[in-house]
Amino acid sequence: MKIHEYQAKELFLQAGMPVPSGEIATNVADAVSIAESIGRPVMVKAQVHVGGRGKAGGVKYAENVEAVRVWAQKILGMDIKGLTVKKILITEAVEIVTECYVGIILDRVTKCPVIMVSAAGGIDIEEVAANTPEKIHKLAVDPILGLKDYQARELASKLYKDIKLVRQAAKIISQLYDVYWMSDASLVEINPLITTPDGKVLAIDAKLNVDDNALYRRKAIAEMRDLDAENPAEVEAREGDLSFVKLDGNIGCIVNGAGLAMATMDLVKYYGGEPANFLDIGGSSNPQKVLTAMRIILSDPNIRSVLINIFGGITRCDDVATGIVLAYEELKPEVPIVVRLTGTNEAQARKILKQVNLKSADTLDNVVKEAIRLAKLDEIG
Ligand code: GDP
Ligand code: MN
Repeated sequence: MKIHEYQAKELFLQAGMPVPSGEIATNVADAVSIAESIGRPVMVKAQVHVGGRGKAGGVKYAENVEAVRVWAQKILGMDIKGLTVKKILITEAVEIVTECYVGIILDRVTKCPVIMVSAAGGIDIEEVAANTPEKIHKLAVDPILGLKDYQARELASKLYKDIKLVRQAAKIISQLYDVYWMSDASLVEINPLITTPDGKVLAIDAKLNVDDNALYRRKAIAEMRDLDAENPAEVEAREGDLSFVKLDGNIGCIVNGAGLAMATMDLVKYYGGEPANFLDIGGSSNPQKVLTAMRIILSDPNIRSVLINIFGGITRCDDVATGIVLAYEELKPEVPIVVRLTGTNEAQARKILKQVNLKSADTLDNVVKEAIRLAKLDEIG
């Protein structure tokens, strides 16, 4: 789960990290009154769950209240990479001397949290990572020992020469590690970590993603979820207890079991197709889940065919078939649907599918090829 910059900054503040003060607004009048109470130049910052807001025009400096009015008006409602800005952070603007990068991710290779720092921070950090990776310094932290002070100092010394700055940065890196650890984050980032002309180190941007599987024990963070800011299809999938990941292809996939879902997507790619999603309806067979899955998939305008691949073990094929019939009745799909159902109660399932003139394919290869053929047909015709 992603949280907004202003929410990540609340966690930073609780950990004692230096963050410029600010408040959130959902309309221009509130933005103006927050700026008035700050009483100094401010930044107007779009709160959306994507990076690169600055480059997209979603982060603006406002010298005075008039400028706040103008930028708040422009940024609220703005579209940034497909997400509509509904909230803006009005935060004290600071004077910047240097911009660094500090991030922590869970690294699956070392099985450790890895801290990354770079003196070349700011909005072009992706380019730094791609073109000059040697400018990014990494440290894998032993999760049992935690981050030691000397390690934090060593990392900080890659960012600054001035010992006063190194000390401040070392403290911030330690505090960031605490935030990462205490929130069960999969990623935390400060980009940029800045220095001011009077020698202060501050975190002026904040990013934090939390492991969904830990939300049950991180209630305060779970409550930060902003449904407004999430992909509606993914919200519906989660509420329907489906694992769903939206992709860019045109073949909708409904599969039971994560492994089979991955294998099905591999096969779609192997035969030259593009899956529109990963979707695992899970082990239990509930016709309602199939209906929800179908509704989510059909709401994607890119879809040209739907591929349903069910291996009936605990999942009963007849229940899935009933769900498919329900979906035909309720959603009246306009795109072709191909099915392969095999295993528990397969014969009953075939009978049920006859009601909507569907036939279960004989092999997985064939059903995948058919889904691809139909998707391409639609593109030509
Ligand atoms: P992002 O584009 O989504 O990463 O948003 P950031 O919060 O990182 O802002 C982008 C850039 O705007 C930063 O790298 C800074 O260069 C600039 N910026 C953000 N806040 C301030 C500020 O308070 N003062 C100044 N001078 N620049 C800022
Ligand atoms: Mn940033």
